[in-house]
Amino acid sequence: MTTAILGGGLTGLTLARLLHEKGEDVIVLEAADKCGGLCRSLAVDGYTFDMGGSHIIFSRDTEVLAFMRRMIAGNEQRNNRNTKIFYKGGYVKYPFENGLSDLPPEDRFFCISEFIKAQIAFETGSARHPENFRDWIYFTFGKGIAECYMVPYNEKIWKYPLERMSAHWVEGRIPRPPVEDVIKSAIGIPTEGYTHQAVFSYPLNGGIEALIHAIAEPVKGKIRTAFTVQSVRRDGKGFIVSDGKMEVRADRIISTMPVQHLLSCLEDVPEHVRRACDSLVCNSLVTVAFGITGKVPDISWLYVPDPRLGKANRISFPSTYSPYATPPGFSSILAEITHQPGDEVSAMSDDELVREVTATLEAMKIVTRDRIAFSRVMRQPFAYVVYDLDYQENIRVVTEYCTSRDIPLVGRFAQFEYLNMDGCIRSAIDFVRTHTIQ
Ligand SMILES: Cc1cc2nc3c(=O)[nH]c(=O)nc-3n(C[C@H](O)[C@H](O)[C@H](O)COP(=O)(O)OP(=O)(O)OC[C@H]3O[C@@H](n4cnc5c(N)ncnc54)[C@H](O)[C@@H]3O)c2cc1C
Repeated sequence: MTTAILGGGLTGLTLARLLHEKGEDVIVLEAADKCGGLCRSLAVDGYTFDMGGSHIIFSRDTEVLAFMRRMIAGNEQRNNRNTKIFYKGGYVKYPFENGLSDLPPEDRFFCISEFIKAQIAFETGSARHPENFRDWIYFTFGKGIAECYMVPYNEKIWKYPLERMSAHWVEGRIPRPPVEDVIKSAIGIPTEGYTHQAVFSYPLNGGIEALIHAIAEPVKGKIRTAFTVQSVRRDGKGFIVSDGKMEVRADRIISTMPVQHLLSCLEDVPEHVRRACDSLVCNSLVTVAFGITGKVPDISWLYVPDPRLGKANRISFPSTYSPYATPPGFSSILAEITHQPGDEVSAMSDDELVREVTATLEAMKIVTRDRIAFSRVMRQPFAYVVYDLDYQENIRVVTEYCTSRDIPLVGRFAQFEYLNMDGCIRSAIDFVRTHTIQ
């Protein structure tokens, strides 16, 4: 019995490993010339950069966190998160609601007074239940935190009108901050938010791709790269998967590749299913990597909500994650720009993107251009799932259809959910626990 796993990112490789450990025969079919998907890293000239944007290892899921840390045991650097928001020329501690004392006094007052009003409205039940993401931000944080940070940052990262985004996914992911913590932070008593991420792990060597290699190790011989799945059809009780040149027969398939790609490989997909799939929204990503002479600020990563500072929404400093991420005497910066397929950013050349981010870094007084020793632009077509208002109905239609064709969907763009690495590994573990070939 052979299982073909379509897509060799983190999810596909985790599935392959877990099924292999259960004694099952697997084959991973990956379009790119190396595995890892969003978790690939670029190693060049002594630098290591995560191609799909800065990745850190953290989780509330203790089983999954233990798995990831076991995978990189002996190659693990533990780091204390030191993350900031760049606001009006200064640094505000992250999460923003835990950094209010870093704000100018009038903004601090605006944020705290509006937060308390929102809290009273919530507790007395006088606030209207939020029907979209924009309303949810105001409902949860109040007008001050919303307008100083949450709205501009979310507009920058999602590139989608916040009033046309659903709020169903934020509950739990962005918790309502405890009122005591917000008041303390406004008057200068230190508090921590998102504590499950306050300490994170990162591979000493190899970037986040080191995690991929460690997971893939027992199934290395079962991976076929440069195999872009183009058609999937039934063959008796099994399947035939083809890249247009070669065919692979399997008794079962699991798809971890973007669901849009899967549907384009299937024949006779009903029109309403295609429409639902075409209506799913996602963001693409450009990452711009820089090698820098000398030091960069000792910050893990920075959020950049202000649209006047340019297109980058987040800037990370990989050389603060691992001492081996750069050659000695150098440091590094990785800027992320989300965008919609086919927009202005997609049309920008690599040189234009480097110039764009260089201007941002100079405006923020992080580096001057004469210190840039290396630069490289990388592009990821699938980066973030955007939960628009029709998302829940569309994904239901698509998932039910794939299930009816015996094709389980596991992973970030297969399930089409905002899953971090831990969520992908959790999905793979749960899948393997509940689906065993008889
Ligand atoms: C900017 C950014 C930062 C992030 N930071 C973190 C972080 O700090 N911590 C964290 O836990 N998570 C983070 N994540 C999330 C993490 O990257 C994902 O959860 C994870 O990599 C998804 O893995 P996947 O295998 O499901 O999908 P992918 O990585 O997208 O893998 C899918 C694979 O399918 C392949 N494929 C596509 N089409 C075909 C085809 N036709 N035939 C064959 N193969 C195909 C692709 O090449 C790819 O290798 C971040 C994501 C982004 C965008």
